[in-house]
Amino acid sequence: MSEADPAFTVGSLECRVVPDGVALYEKETLYADVPPEELEPSVRALLNDQGYVPLPYHPLLMRMADGLALVDAGAGPALAKEWGDPIGRLREALRAAGVEPEDVGLVLLSHAHPDHVGGLTLEDGGGRRPVFPNARHVISRTELEYWTSDRVPEVFARMASVARLHLPPLERAGILDLIEGEQDLAPGIRVIPAPGHTPGHLAVSLSSGPDTAIFVADAVLGETNFEHPDWSSTHEVDRAGAVETRRRLLDRAASGRSTVVGYHLWAPGLVERRGHRYRWNPAG
Ligand SMILES: [Zn+2]
Repeated sequence: MSEADPAFTVGSLECRVVPDGVALYEKETLYADVPPEELEPSVRALLNDQGYVPLPYHPLLMRMADGLALVDAGAGPALAKEWGDPIGRLREALRAAGVEPEDVGLVLLSHAHPDHVGGLTLEDGGGRRPVFPNARHVISRTELEYWTSDRVPEVFARMASVARLHLPPLERAGILDLIEGEQDLAPGIRVIPAPGHTPGHLAVSLSSGPDTAIFVADAVLGETNFEHPDWSSTHEVDRAGAVETRRRLLDRAASGRSTVVGYHLWAPGLVERRGHRYRWNPAG
């Protein structure tokens, strides 16, 4: 898989994928509890030489009338070092698009998993400083409360520690807004609760004139999920809820002929409903 053309438009909204990199996942954790004889042929074409599924990390940059908005912040340099994957490269991708972190006015966080929030702050003299100091950061209240609560199971403890490292400094700096329910963040940019993957997971609906798009964030974990929408991952907090949300968002995109954009999809595209499955038509 290679990176597609990063730029696309939704009406007058200029959008650009700003790649943070690519990480490798075990197929059995990405699509858990699927019998091997069913899993193997479905993912075979996607596997790298070592048998892993490469997934892109694709934050989305949008140029609005009154400034720049970024959806999700990549994994950050510390996790890139820890995991050994070629990730944490958002800053270079932004620079290639002619954007410095200081230029971003809005950072919308789909959820608080490490690959989405690890790039929010950097260590600085024993404390942490925001990477996007001039941005209003937005996350679901449910999401922040969950990851900072004692309800997080042990299996997700490492994920919680990353959320707890990056989000409180933004809160202390007074640049983190907690939102509830469906709402407009800017003209043509509306957040939609999309729980399951995590409790406060958000999708983003984009519209301009007759054109629409949906950033599904992690409601779709790789292209395999179109053909197999009922497959869920061990990374998901509520696996049944994740499947329900995936179907709801893809049905909405299919019926509205909305462009689908995903954090872990290689390219934007259009989706069609085919019985209980979906057919994926990537752009380009
Ligand atoms: Zn993710």
